[in-house]
Amino acid sequence: MQLSGFPRLSFAHLPTPLEPMPNLTELLGGPNLLIKRDDCTGLAGGGNKTRKLEFLMADAGQQGADTIITQGATQSNHCRQTAAIAAKLGMDCHLLFEDRTGMQDVDYNLNGNVLLDQLYGASLQKFPADTDMDQAMADLAARLQAEGRRPYTIPGGGSNPVGALGYVNCALEMLHQANSTGLKIDHVVHATGSTGTQAGLVTGFCATNSGVPVLGVGVRAPQEVQEAKVFALAEKTAALVGAPGAVKRDQVVANCEYVGEGYGFPAESTIDAIKLFARAEGILLDPVYTGKGAAGFIELVQAGHFAGQDNIVFLHTGGAQGLAGYREAFGFNSYD
Ligand SMILES: *Cc1c(COP(=O)(O)O)cnc(C)c1O
Repeated sequence: MQLSGFPRLSFAHLPTPLEPMPNLTELLGGPNLLIKRDDCTGLAGGGNKTRKLEFLMADAGQQGADTIITQGATQSNHCRQTAAIAAKLGMDCHLLFEDRTGMQDVDYNLNGNVLLDQLYGASLQKFPADTDMDQAMADLAARLQAEGRRPYTIPGGGSNPVGALGYVNCALEMLHQANSTGLKIDHVVHATGSTGTQAGLVTGFCATNSGVPVLGVGVRAPQEVQEAKVFALAEKTAALVGAPGAVKRDQVVANCEYVGEGYGFPAESTIDAIKLFARAEGILLDPVYTGKGAAGFIELVQAGHFAGQDNIVFLHTGGAQGLAGYREAFGFNSYD
């Protein structure tokens, strides 16, 4: 498997740090907890979509695109990172928002990621919940094409085999960091949504026979649905990198007990996890993804789920730029 065979732009700040979390380790009573800082990929404040976009935007360039279309929730981190790199590359960017939460407050609709999307000069459009967003993107692409534009459509979350290459790359990067520091990684835990992150990671870890298990903590779908979607993309990604069949179904594991009310609605455990990471380690999580991922991570560590394992890595996938969009969820309405 050689990733260098694929077209790729280089704009992420890599490698991202792999750091110990000594205070959290002590608070939770071990095992040794570490954090892989993909919130520090650089672009637009960072996040996991940047690694995917290195491959996706190279593909767009090869196809002669001058316009990028993508979609997500109103507070989408993927949309923010896409808007930033489109601006940098001199491309128009159309962001199609699905109103998945129905939240009416000003912060959710205009602050956080949305403020940054507008700073980057993207065109924004909102659609009702349960709109067929792939169809909406196809309709817009057809309209722009008729006007003489050359649109390139990126699926939600950048999650297709090309985007997932970014997380095959992350798996290789973590193995290299571990090998060069004498660290044996026993488990990687992260928030899983549109599936490209987990699919890429398991492909990278399996195709190298590393034996590193990955646990995705779900933010939307029930476990069976999430695992099936991750596995389907992992199979395609493995085939793309020349390792067909490298990922077995039982190597795709999700825990979807921390979703709470639904996508985009932080649960009490989400808010608690965000406060704990901030106050113990000075690290900012987010209310939609990493807060839920960390809630699962914390509870599973406390429940002894990783007993007998020494080094557990939480992959920080970013998202703190959305915090301002969720100001009301924290209830900090005064200085008391
Ligand atoms: C998109 C996103 C995820 C989920 O990654 P997927 O590849 O969509 O599964 C996790 N954390 C943050 C902050 C994200 O923006």
